[in-house]
Amino acid sequence: MSILKILRKIVQEVSTAADLDAVLTIIVSRVQRAMATHVCSVFLFDAVTQRYVLRATQGLNPQAVGQVSLAENEGVVGLVAKRAEPINLQDASSHPAFYFLDTTGEEQFHSFLGVPIIHQRRVLGVLVVQQQEKRRFDESEEAFLVTLSAQLAGIIAHAHATGSVQTQLDANQRPVQQDLRYEGVAAAPGVAIGRVVVMSLPADLDTVPDKEVKDLAAELESFAKALEAVREEVRQVADNLASRLSKDEQALFDVYLRMLDDQALAQEVIARIHAGNWAQGSLREVIDEHVRAFTAMEDPYLSERATDIRDLGSRILSHLQEAGPAQITDFPDHAILLADELTPAMLGLAPENKLAGLVSVSGSGNSHAAILARSMGIPTVMGVVDLPYRRLNGREVVVDGYNGRLYVNPSDELLQAYGRILNDEKAMATELQALHDLPAITTDGYRLPLWVNTGLAADVARSLERGAEGIGLYRTEIPFMIRESFPSEQEQLESYRKQLEAFAPLPVTMRTLDIGGDKALPYFPIDEENPSLGWRGIRITLDHPEIFMVQVRAMLRASVGLNNLRIMLPMVTSVHEVEEAKRQIDRACAELREEGYDVHAPPVGVMIEVPAAVYQARRFARMVDFISVGSNDLTQYLLAVDRNNPRVAGLYAPYHPAVLKALDFIAHEAHKERKHVSICGEIAADPGGALLLMAMGYDVLSVNANNLPRVKCAIRGVSLEEARHLLLKVRMMHDAEEIHQTLRQALRAFGLNQLTRPAIPERE
Ligand code: PEP
Ligand code: MG
Repeated sequence: MSILKILRKIVQEVSTAADLDAVLTIIVSRVQRAMATHVCSVFLFDAVTQRYVLRATQGLNPQAVGQVSLAENEGVVGLVAKRAEPINLQDASSHPAFYFLDTTGEEQFHSFLGVPIIHQRRVLGVLVVQQQEKRRFDESEEAFLVTLSAQLAGIIAHAHATGSVQTQLDANQRPVQQDLRYEGVAAAPGVAIGRVVVMSLPADLDTVPDKEVKDLAAELESFAKALEAVREEVRQVADNLASRLSKDEQALFDVYLRMLDDQALAQEVIARIHAGNWAQGSLREVIDEHVRAFTAMEDPYLSERATDIRDLGSRILSHLQEAGPAQITDFPDHAILLADELTPAMLGLAPENKLAGLVSVSGSGNSHAAILARSMGIPTVMGVVDLPYRRLNGREVVVDGYNGRLYVNPSDELLQAYGRILNDEKAMATELQALHDLPAITTDGYRLPLWVNTGLAADVARSLERGAEGIGLYRTEIPFMIRESFPSEQEQLESYRKQLEAFAPLPVTMRTLDIGGDKALPYFPIDEENPSLGWRGIRITLDHPEIFMVQVRAMLRASVGLNNLRIMLPMVTSVHEVEEAKRQIDRACAELREEGYDVHAPPVGVMIEVPAAVYQARRFARMVDFISVGSNDLTQYLLAVDRNNPRVAGLYAPYHPAVLKALDFIAHEAHKERKHVSICGEIAADPGGALLLMAMGYDVLSVNANNLPRVKCAIRGVSLEEARHLLLKVRMMHDAEEIHQTLRQALRAFGLNQLTRPAIPERE
C-alpha cells in the first residue's frame, strides 16, 4: 500500500473510534505495523499532574500503561514535548536527557523517534517509535510519523474532550467532573446559565444527540416502523431495477435487506434503546460501530460496504425524524441551543422567550448566526470545535459569551460567580434603558444618527424600543432562509411593508438578496469550494434577473405612499454591476408606473465590502445616492480570513490597521462626492469602534438593536474633539491588539467603564 493510503486508512479508522482509549490503541498498533518497528507508544499530557503519561503502547510492557509518566524536563519524551519538534536518535540511552522508565521493559530498545502531537498550538503529547538495533530512523519514516501525528492531533483532542463528559451509561460509574471547560469564539456577549437542547440537522446521522428514552414502547414502535419503511423502499428499488441489473448487482439488495434483518443491525439498536438511549441516538451508535468495523477491513470490497451501512442508517433516520415532531417542542426555560452548525434558520425556529444562550461547534464570530444572536442579545459561543455536543442534551451549562467559553456541569461556586455577572448585566440594561428617548449627541453637541440592522421578524419592535432612527441594513435574505421556496412578489411586499410602515417616515434601507457564503437557501443550494469568493450577493441576482426583479418590484410597491425606501446593493466589485442593477431598478419603476402604481424612485446605494470597491469608492459614489460599508466582509477579504472559520478566528481583527485605513479612506472618498456614507458592519456596534468611525466622519452608524444603547452611551460620553484625538492616536499604531486595548482604556478614561466587558472568573 502507498504511504498516502496507509495514512488515510489509519486516520479514517481512528476518526470513527469509540473513545480515547480506542483511538490510542488503534494508533499504536497500526503505526507499529505500518513502520515495522518493535515499539509504538503514546504519551499524553495530564493537566492535573502536569506530566506526560504513557497512555497506550504496542511493544512495551502493557502493565506500565497509565502507571509511568514523565515531567516536561524528564527524558527524551519530555524534551520532544518541550521543544515541540521531533527527536530522532540512534541510541536513546546515550542521550544526556535520557531517563530510564522502570517497568516498561524499554532497556532492550535503542533507536528512538519521538514526534510531538500538537493541536491548536498546544502540545497534547508525544508519539514514539522504538527499535532494538542502533540505527537512525530514515527521513521517510520521520516524515511519515510527523504527518500522521499532525493529522491525529485533532482527533485525539476531540476524543479527550468527549471522554471527560460522562454518557448516561457511565454516569453511575464515574464521579461527575465539574466545570469542564470548552473553548470557542466569543460571538455574542453576555452570560447564560441553562440546560442544553441539541438541535440536529435533518437526516444527518452525525449530528444526532444522545437523549434519554421517555416512552420506551413508543420509541421501539417508531423504530420498527422506520425499519419496515426502509425495507419496503429497498424492495421497491430492487423491483424497479430488476430488469436492468445483473445477478450480482441484484444480490446487493439482498445484502441490504439482510442487514436490516431483525437479528442483525436492528437487534443491536433495540438493545440500546432498552439501555436508555432514544431510537435516533441508538441508531447512530450502532451505525458508527458497523462503519468502523467495515472501514478497518483489509478487503477493499468489504471496506467499501461501510458506505452502504451509512446509507441505510441515514434512510432509517429520515423515517424516524419524519415520524417525530418537525420542531423541538419541549424547550425548557433558559434553553441553551447547541448545534453542530448553528444556522440563521435555527434561530428563527427557537422560541425566543425561552432561549438563553447559543453554542455552535462550527462557525465563528462573524457568521450570520452570530450576528443575529448579537442582535437578539443572546450570549453565544461559536467554533467550539472539540465539543462532544452529542452527549450534552439536557446538561446544565454556563455560556460565557464574553470569553467564548462553555462550562459543562458547573459547580456552585462557578454558578455564583456567573450569577453575579448576570445581575450586573441586568442593572446595566436598566441604566441604558434610560437613554431611550435621548439623541446620540456628543458632549460638544455633535449629533450622530444611529440606525439599526434588521433581519428577524422581532428586530423591528426591538429596534423601535431601543430608539433607532432608521434602518441602515435590512438583510432581506434572512426571511428567505426560513422558507421552502422563494417568496412570491405579494408575500415579499407584505413583509417589506411591515418594516417600512413601522419606521415611516424614517428611512429603511433594504438590501437586495445577499445569499451565498454562509447564507444558504434550502431550496437553492449552491455547492462551492470557496463560497466566500464565489457566487454571492449581487453576482447571483444579476445572473437571475427574475429573482432580482420580483424583489425590487415588491420593495417599490411596499413603499407606495410611504416613500421611505432606500435600496442597497451587496458585494459590488465593478462599475458595470452597479450600472446593470440600476438599470433594472429603473425598469421596475417604469413597469410599475405603467401598471398604475404611484412609485417614487428610491435612493440607491452600494455596499463597500470587497477590497476592489474600496479603491473605486469615489467612482461608485458618483453613480449612487449613498454608500454603506460592510466591514464584516471587508475585514474578511482584506485580511484573507474566512469570517466563518474558527481556526482562523484569532486572525479576524476588525481593528487591524489595514482595515481602519480602508474605512478612513472610504469615508473621505465618499465625501469628496458629497455623498452620504454609513457603516453597517459589526465594528460600528462596538462602543470603541463607534467612536473611531464618528471621528472618521461617518454620517450614520447602523448597528444591531441590542448594542444600540451601548453605542449611544459611548457617544454621549465624549466630545467629538476627544474622539478625533483618539483616532489620531490609533492611526499611529501598527497592531490590532494594541489598538483594541487603547480603545478599552480610552472608554475607561472617558468614565465609560460599564461599556468594557465585566471581570470574568478565571479557572482552569
Ligand atoms: C457586512 O459584510 O459587513 C455586512 C453588513 O453584511 P453581512 O454581514 O450580512 O454580510
Ligand atoms: Mg456582507
